[in-house]
Amino acid sequence: MYKIDMHTHILPEKLPDFAQKYGYGDFIHLEHHRPGFARMMKGSTFFREIESNCWDPQVRIEEYLRFNTRVQVVCTVPVMFSYWAKPADCLDLSRFLNDHLAALAAEYPEHYIPLGTLPMQDADIAIQELQRLKAMGFPGIQIGSNINQRNLSEPEFFPIFEACEALNMAILVHPWEMMGQEYMTKYWLPWLVGMPAETCRAICSLIFGGVMERLPNLRFCFAHAGGSFIPTIGRIQHGFECRPDLVAVDNPKPPRHYLGKFWVDSATHDAQLLRYVLEVIGEDKVCLGTDYPFPLGDLEIGAFIEGMELPPQTLEKIFYRNTLQWLYGDDRTHPGALSTEADSKLRARP
Ligand SMILES: [Zn+2]
Repeated sequence: MYKIDMHTHILPEKLPDFAQKYGYGDFIHLEHHRPGFARMMKGSTFFREIESNCWDPQVRIEEYLRFNTRVQVVCTVPVMFSYWAKPADCLDLSRFLNDHLAALAAEYPEHYIPLGTLPMQDADIAIQELQRLKAMGFPGIQIGSNINQRNLSEPEFFPIFEACEALNMAILVHPWEMMGQEYMTKYWLPWLVGMPAETCRAICSLIFGGVMERLPNLRFCFAHAGGSFIPTIGRIQHGFECRPDLVAVDNPKPPRHYLGKFWVDSATHDAQLLRYVLEVIGEDKVCLGTDYPFPLGDLEIGAFIEGMELPPQTLEKIFYRNTLQWLYGDDRTHPGALSTEADSKLRARP
């Protein structure tokens, strides 16, 4: 079956020395220390080792063919957001990453759909870059779950969301700068505990802050099946009902009202949880998304979903229809759906 993976990350093979260019800051740089591998360095601190599937478009296409998947929605690695930088420098860095994504999508239109990144810490220049992305054919952007620990409900971000709605640009909200991470550095807790909580924080902020209410045509998708939001929706709804004085201060509508109004990816690593997610937000709102190529990702590209014995029409929705709806807001097809000729050529390679 035709598949689109709507949650994958990519980097350019070579990054400029941003710290030297801007004269400050722990910007990410890459050390290609042996063939096919690179160290991502945050200033002088080791962040993570990546392999060529993080930058080589051909390697990625071949890895995906093993799982019969043609199309990847690509966005940067969240550590690249750099919302802490001076806005003009973050704009410069974002443009560099966005130009790389645009070139990739232009070269491989059947395989890559780009989501841009914005200097979210400054609405004016963020909107300026958003308009440029629109003109370059990007269907949407990826943003963090908070911006320098400011919640997405804060008024300074509203003009950016408004512009996204007006320009028909979809938004992937991805956890980053996990709250409390300095207090839980051991056991990979920022990734295991912080990330799901961050995504829940983002969804609650957008609901309770009235952003989803005021911009009903803005299409949000949340990483990792919405983090801890859906598993704790009962508690969140109950909190809204028992303490409206604390919760319902900016939006009188209950959180359950918004179930079915936003999308989430399928990266649960748990068929039972995915069934619950499908039940709670509906089979029109769950998209195949894996977090490839990172170790916490679903690196068999949705194989567990094929084993869930879902009806073919539900699978079709999860594997590509819902993603196209989220990205474009209509029933279009994607060039990747039209031809399998390129696949057979690639498979024939030694
Ligand atoms: Zn991710």
